Amino acid sequence: MEDSDRKRNLADALSRTDSLIDRFSDILKGDLSGQEHPKRDFTATANRIIDGPTKVKALPQAQASHALQVQVTPQTQTTRMDGFNARPSATASTMRVKDDERLHMSFNSLLQDCQNCRRCGLCKGRKNVVFGSGNVERPIVMIVGEGPGEEEDIMGQPFVGKAGKYLDSWLSPISLSRDNIYITNIVKCRPPQNRDPHPEEKTACYPFLQQQIEIIHPQAILCLGKHASNFLTGQLDATMGAMHGRFYFFDGIPVICTYHPAAVLRNLALKRPVWEDLKKLARYLGLPIQGRSK
Ligand code: SF4
Repeated sequence: MEDSDRKRNLADALSRTDSLIDRFSDILKGDLSGQEHPKRDFTATANRIIDGPTKVKALPQAQASHALQVQVTPQTQTTRMDGFNARPSATASTMRVKDDERLHMSFNSLLQDCQNCRRCGLCKGRKNVVFGSGNVERPIVMIVGEGPGEEEDIMGQPFVGKAGKYLDSWLSPISLSRDNIYITNIVKCRPPQNRDPHPEEKTACYPFLQQQIEIIHPQAILCLGKHASNFLTGQLDATMGAMHGRFYFFDGIPVICTYHPAAVLRNLALKRPVWEDLKKLARYLGLPIQGRSK
C-alpha cells in the first residue's frame, strides 16, 4: 500500500476514534442527545506518525554566541528518572551512564545549534535564546508554552515571570516540581512586544522542539495555551475550549492541553477547567493528587 493511502486510512481511523471518544464522553456526562461534534482533521498527525521524526539540519555555527543560561542537568547530579526512585542494577546503571552521556551530548549539540540560530526574524530582537530548562533525563512531563516574554528573554530561562510563578503553584498539587519536569516553548526567541508568534516563526523553530521531545522523551506533554496546543496536536483551527482536557499523541507520547497561566491570571473563571485538566494528567500518570491548584 502507498504511503499516501496509509496516511489517509490512518487519518480516517483517528478521526473515527476521536468521534467515538466524543460520544462516549457525552454519555459519561449524561448527555444522550447524540449531538454531532465538529469532525477533526488528523492528516497532520497521520503524516507525522508515518513519516517519522524529521531530523534537524546542520545549522550555521559562525554566529555570535549569546550569553545563554540554560539549565542542563550535570552528569554528576542524582538523576530523577521518573519520580518513582527505581534502583538500577550495576549493569543497568553502567548502561544508564552511557545512555545519559549520549543524551547529554545530543542535547548540548542541539542547544548550541539553537544558540546560534538565525532561521527567523525573531533572532534580531532577542537578548537570549530561551531553549528550555529542567530535568532532561526522562522527565515525567514536558511543559510546552508559546514563547519567551520580557523577563524570560533577559534571564534566558522559560517561565520565570509572573505566569511562570503561577505555573509553579499548579505543579505541587499533582506531585510535580521543576525537578521532575522540563519546560520549553514553541519559539525560543521573544516575539517583539510579546505578540503572538507568526506561523512561519513557529515552523522555523519547530525542529528544535521536535528534537528536544525526541531526545528527552518525556512520559507526557502538557501544552499551555492555544499556540502550543494547536501546533503539537495538529488541530490548527481548534479552540482551547475544544482542546483542553483531551488526550492527543505526539510521536506516541500522550499530550494534554490546558489554558496558559497568563490567560488564567486574566480570567480567573479558567482556574476550574485547568484544575480538572491537571487532575486528568495526574491520574493518567499515576501521580498522587494532593490539595488543588490555586
Ligand atoms: S525563534 Fe527559533 S527559529 Fe527563530 S531565530 Fe529563534 S531559535 Fe531560531
